Amino acid sequence: MKAALLVEPRTIQIKDVQAPEPGPYEVLIRVIMAGICGSDYSLYHGKLAVPLPVIPGHEAVGVIERLGPGVSGFALGQRVTIQPNFACGECPVCRSGHINICPAKVRLGIDRDGVFAEYVKVPARYVWPIPEGLEDGVAVFTEPLAVATHALKIAAPRKGDRTLILGAGVIGLLTLQMAALHGAEVTACDLVEKRLALAKRLGASQVISANDPMESAYNSFDLVYEASGAQAGLAQAIQLAGPSGRIVVLGLPGKENPVATALIVRKELQIMGSMIYTDEFPQVMDMLKTRQIETAPLITAKIPLSELNRTLKAFASPDRVKILVTVQ
Ligand SMILES: [Zn+2]
Ligand SMILES: [Zn+2]
Repeated sequence: MKAALLVEPRTIQIKDVQAPEPGPYEVLIRVIMAGICGSDYSLYHGKLAVPLPVIPGHEAVGVIERLGPGVSGFALGQRVTIQPNFACGECPVCRSGHINICPAKVRLGIDRDGVFAEYVKVPARYVWPIPEGLEDGVAVFTEPLAVATHALKIAAPRKGDRTLILGAGVIGLLTLQMAALHGAEVTACDLVEKRLALAKRLGASQVISANDPMESAYNSFDLVYEASGAQAGLAQAIQLAGPSGRIVVLGLPGKENPVATALIVRKELQIMGSMIYTDEFPQVMDMLKTRQIETAPLITAKIPLSELNRTLKAFASPDRVKILVTVQ
């Protein structure tokens, strides 16, 4: 099969490799379309300490090509999407329902070969059928929307809550729409004008440019979603949150940054982490199907697999939101 292999940091080569064989309780999926994620970019730059070569990519839509031994409940040719973090299912963390933070979790496209290839094998229990009427180009947003949905499960705005989204990338813009659906009064903050314009179009009543001084917005928000992953993201959120405010941190900064501990105490802030997702996939696909969430405005480009290396090289471009890869 044709596959995009990360052979060394900053070098993806399209190669002909052996297609994977589905093992017991696995399915083989023929990939149709994939999405490029921030974590693909980190992996590309060698920031995740994993052995290479590896086929990156974890956001995908495809069809069932073959069933491994013991798999039932799927039909060949059925359209599916993948929940791409495979928990062990047996440790105390998993047994308490927190499969998203299982310490033995295997990440598709990082710890094992991912979706930037013609075929990928996946444990059947992490494969979700795509409902009729949900197109590939929309269904491919299931995984990132599950991230945003989980963040609202951690803390959702009450109607009218002044809610701030820090970082108007894909996750920020999806979280923004989820918050707006809950009746929040949403403000978005980003460095990039184009993303702020998108935030307005998708329901933000106000935007703040992160290039401008922000002191006038300090202590103003009931709820802050930190989706920028910027090093100072949490420190900023602590300043911007109002008394008894809640902060949900979704972004993973590359470096630690000091925060104003005294403000957490004085304002009695609640700070919560939100890590990927657990059981949100069916609900998310339903929201996509019923068009409660807009995805088309988030698509910056669609590229063939052969453009992946060049695209990841230029991925830091501030205008970029979601780039989709048409695999076949
Ligand atoms: Zn992703
Ligand atoms: Zn586990």
